[in-house]
Order: sequence, then structure tokens, then C-alpha cells
Amino acid sequence: MPGEFELIARHFTRPVRRAAIESSPGTQRVALGVGDDCALLNVTPGMQLAVSCDMLVEGRHFLSTVAPERLGHKALAVNLSDLAACGAEPLAFTLALALPRADDAFLAPFAQGLYALADAHGIELVGGDTTAGPLNICITVFGQVPAGQALLRSGARPGDELWVSGTLGDARLALEAFRGRVVLPGEAFETVREAMERPQPRVALGRALRGLATSAIDLSDGLLGDLGHVLRRSGVGATVNVDALPRGAVLATMPQPLQHECLLAGGDDYELLFSAPAQAHAAVQAAGVAAGVAVHCCGQLDAQRGLRVVDGDGRPVATPWHAFDHFL
Ligand code: ADP
Ligand code: MG
Repeated sequence: MPGEFELIARHFTRPVRRAAIESSPGTQRVALGVGDDCALLNVTPGMQLAVSCDMLVEGRHFLSTVAPERLGHKALAVNLSDLAACGAEPLAFTLALALPRADDAFLAPFAQGLYALADAHGIELVGGDTTAGPLNICITVFGQVPAGQALLRSGARPGDELWVSGTLGDARLALEAFRGRVVLPGEAFETVREAMERPQPRVALGRALRGLATSAIDLSDGLLGDLGHVLRRSGVGATVNVDALPRGAVLATMPQPLQHECLLAGGDDYELLFSAPAQAHAAVQAAGVAAGVAVHCCGQLDAQRGLRVVDGDGRPVATPWHAFDHFL
């Protein structure tokens, strides 16, 4: 069995790629990677460092049935999603890993999934920590954003339009299929399972929304709960049209109450929810096109506090679920 340092050398150390350096001439972002006491990053003058950390715990955030390659992808994706929500450009990340066993058959595909997404975003793994223990994956991402331009939860204004990217609810539908509450034909199951296990962080969209969006958040705990954070921080209310929420073909065939639950209280969507002035409507659509991600206007911000969910005819829609909380 390999030891701790052999594991790090085998799976989590590689030379900094020339491509990453050459794509940003003059700014080698990683001055020193894995192997010393600290990593050293070069931050562009005039930029602020954006830092976020997310932990994935077996049985809490993922099922033991997930393929290691997908777990590697998702562990980084959920962190990149936080940078996306701030409009930040990813620079590098660290990986703290607790493993029950030094298992190459797990670590090789895990590292492959991790590096594939890292390469897609041009970022390097620059350090971490490796210990024995119950499977637990903690990634910290570092990004940069022009000083003062980060998208925050606190900037939504009455009259702004509310937007969401991609489609919502598939990850929750997959969870309900795993739990046996719904039965899906094979292909439909694979589609929603992929949404749950391979979320795509909306990094390009977040950057394109800088200077356009007044607030943004990534959807990890379900739309109602996450929108609630924006409303409290911004001191505004909102009206959401549930019929305007984008959903995939599989979810669209489900009974309406289940659709509403998956769309509004689902979680694990990793789409962006953001507000923008109504005058910026066309510019927001253009940002979606430029980033290659569909964006949908699904409501508006109100001066009246609270969250109102309505259907396409303006009738109130029941929302009997409470927001996700690890300790409630
Ligand atoms: P220290 O004792 O100084 O904390 P460690 O012995 O824990 O350092 O780690 C040795 C080197 O390997 C460090 O550069 C650390 O950042 C890196 N490292 C440890 N675990 C990982 C990991 N899972 N992924 C990437 N780098 C790692
Ligand atoms: Mg250490």
C-alpha cells in the first residue's frame, strides 16, 4: 500500500503546464505549486483575491454509489460555482482529503475527474493535505476579480428582474429516484443523474455578468432558500413565477407538485440566480449567449419584503418546504 507522500506524488502532483502559462503571457499565476510548505500565487495588480471553500462528506453530499471520476469533478465544480457567483476568474485550488484507505483504484479516477475540470478552466492544484479518516473532500478555490466588481448577494434593488441560468430541479429528481420515491426509465435516470453528479459551474456567465447583475448567488440549497439569502442581504422582496423556471425534459413530465418541489426546494443545481435592472434585459440575454448558457427571466424584485411564488396567471403557489439546513 502506498504511503501518504507516495499518494500525493502519484495522484496530486504534476508539473505546471506550459499551456496555462502561455495562455496568460507575463502572468504565470502559480509561482510555486505542490511540494513546499506553501503554494505561491501571483495575483494581478488591481484585482482582489476571491476565496471559497466547500466540503463534501460521504452520505451527506454524495452517495457511495457515485463513480470516483464524477466525485472528483463535483468536488471542484461546487467550489468553482462559488467563484462564478462572484464573477471571479479561477486561479488555483487546494485539496484536503480524508481517505479510509490508500486506494489507487479510487484515487486514479478521482484525480482524473478533478484534473479534467481543472484543465477546462485552466487552473492548477497547488497544495492540500492528506490524512486517513472517513471519506471527506474539502477544496478551497482561489480566484481574482477586478477590485470592487465582485457580484454580491447584497445589491438587488426593487424593480430589478430576477434571472436563472440553465435548468433547475434535475439533481433533486435524481435524488428522489435513488430514494425510490419516483421510478424513471433508464435513459431518463441517467440524464438526471448526470445533472446531480456532473454539475457545470457557470464561470463564464458569472464573469460576463460583472457590471450588469446587481446581485448573484449560486443555487446549492434550493431556489427558495438561496433567494431568501439575497432578499435578506439586499433588504428587498421578490415575486417568482414558477411557470417561468427552466426545467429539463424529464422533470417536465413529472406530476406538478413534484416539479414545484424540485424546482423551488431542490438543491444541488449549481446554476446562477441573479438580478439585473430591467433596462439591462437584452444585455443579460447577450451575456448568456456569449457564455453559451441559457438564461431565463423568472420574476422580479419588489420593495415589499418577503417572497411570493405565483404561477403564470399570477395565482399564488403553495411552498410547504423549509430551506435545507444541515442541523435542522
Ligand atoms: P506540511 O507538513 O508542510 O503541512 P504535507 O506533508 O501535509 O505538508 O504535504 C506535503 C506537500 O504536499 C505540501 O506542499 C502540500 O500542500 C501537498 N499536498 C498534501 N496533500 C495534498 C493533496 N491531497 N493534494 C495536493 N497537494 C497535497
Ligand atoms: Mg500539511
